This record gives sequence, structure tokens and C-alpha cells, in this order.
Amino acid sequence: MVENKIFAVADVGGTKILLLLVDQDRNVYLRRKLPTPPGAAPELVAKTINEALSRALQDKEMERSGLAGLGVCIAALLDFEEGVIYEAPNLDWHEPIPFRKLLQEYCSCPVYLENDANAAVLGEVTYGAAQGHRDAAYITISTGIGGGLYLDGKIYRGSGGFAGEIGHIKRFGKGRRCGCGGEDCLEAWASGEGIARSARSLWDEGDPSSGPLNTAAVFDLAAAGNPLARSIIEQAIDDIGTGLANLVTLLNPSCLVIGGGVARNRPGLLEKIRDKINRKAVAPAVNISRVEVVPARLEPDAGAWGMFAMMCAGE
Ligand SMILES: [Zn+2]
Repeated sequence: MVENKIFAVADVGGTKILLLLVDQDRNVYLRRKLPTPPGAAPELVAKTINEALSRALQDKEMERSGLAGLGVCIAALLDFEEGVIYEAPNLDWHEPIPFRKLLQEYCSCPVYLENDANAAVLGEVTYGAAQGHRDAAYITISTGIGGGLYLDGKIYRGSGGFAGEIGHIKRFGKGRRCGCGGEDCLEAWASGEGIARSARSLWDEGDPSSGPLNTAAVFDLAAAGNPLARSIIEQAIDDIGTGLANLVTLLNPSCLVIGGGVARNRPGLLEKIRDKINRKAVAPAVNISRVEVVPARLEPDAGAWGMFAMMCAGE
């Protein structure tokens, strides 16, 4: 019997860690979600991943020595070559952390560490919504706004590994701090949290929603015709449209994959973003070479599949 190559992939989020065991033919042996330890130190997160991996292998009666690779993606500004995380705002990590080394302490197999949006764009290009494209971008609009670039047939990381951070381009709105430490980033105004912040600041009192004033409530109010909610949503769409039109003007991609909870199940929103891009980007980049604006197809596993693709390619 031919021994299967087994790969482990983990997507580390601010609240959850997704762990998959996959063989070289993309058969999923195990898919498990576990909580990210709250306020966790990097050592503890590495240990948590390792322990979950040990349990997963045990449950599947697999040997750790049979593991062909571990790929971890995370919402962080990191150096792929060095495996060092510089900023992970969701986890409150702000000092350089040799995270790949921490993971490697538990594993003899190759360990890969990548930004989650970079991993997601590779996942969507390889198996998802951007298959066949050589120049694509993945944008996630959720609590924050993240971006990953795939240019000329490979992930584009930039000189230090920090490229693609479209959520932190400026300048939008006025006078709002962003989680990155900057001010008036796109994310601070147009992300799910940005939309909720706008609503909360405008509705200090007399909150017209029956429940908590979160992103979904603002969308519901806008759909019901509330003019303030409508203007907040319209402004956020306009800001996202401006940010993505600038990306199209600068990089001339053929596909933009839109992921994240804010755009999910809101096809009208995607249509409006597409319309803004068509009107705001330099004309030939949308007329002569078409740019597809499509919903993500692999969520919430896009990052995990990107790490799998990376390990299979032995990049
Ligand atoms: Zn920012």
C-alpha cells in the first residue's frame, strides 16, 4: 500500500483556529475548530496548535513522522522568508516574534508561515474563484479589511513581506484611529467594525435598532429605509470602491475576489462595489482588459487551501 502524504494546515484568527489534515489528493481527513486562547502569548498559541495537531493525528491513528508539512496562516504583518511576525493586532502582538521557529520546535517536517490574505489569494487562484488568473487580488471585508496580491503568477509579498495591506491605505473619513496605529485608514471607516463605529457615533442616543448596533443591524436599518443607516452604508461602499479602483489603476489585475462576512450573502453590495470600480479606475484597466469582481468561493477555508497549495508546490 502506498503511504499517503499528509499535510496539516492551520488558520489562526483572533478568536478561532481552524485545523485541517489533508492528503496530497486533497482528501480532508479532519477539520477541526478550536478557540484561540484569549490574550494568548505567541508561545501559548504555538503550543495550542501543536497540541491540537497531536490530538488530531492520534484520532486518525496517524504518526507525526508521516506529516509532510505544517502550513500556518495568520492575520499578521510578517516576513515570510524569516518566519517572523511583526504585528498581529487581533492578537495584540506588536513585537517581532519568531513564530515559525516556535512552531518548528514541535515539528520535524517543513513549517510554512504566511499572512492569511496572501494564503487566501493563493487558495482562490488555485482552487476557487480566481482559477486561471495570473493577476488577482483577494480582499476580505469583515471586522477589518485585508488584502492579498497574486501578480504575474505568484504571491506578491513586497520587499519586506508587507504588501497588499489595502485596509490601511489612506485617507478616508476624518479623525478615526485604526487598529494598525494609523489614522483614517480605509478599514477604520469601511470595514464591518468601521460601519458599526459610524452608527454608534451618530446614534449616541435614540438608537433605532432593537438589538445591539452592529454591522448587520446597520444593513437591516438601511434596507428598511432609515436614511442615516443608508448614508453610512453608501459612504462605506464608496470608500471601498475608491480603494479597489486605486488598486485596479495601480496593478491592472484581471480578477478581484471579495471575501469576508460583510459582503457575504449581499450580492447587491458586490454589484455596487463593481460599479464604483468601473467608474473610478483608469478606463482601459476596466474596459480594454476586463476585471472580474467575484465573491470568494472557498471561505472560510481559503487561507487553509492556500497553505496546502503552497506546501504541495514546495515553494
Ligand atoms: Zn490602519
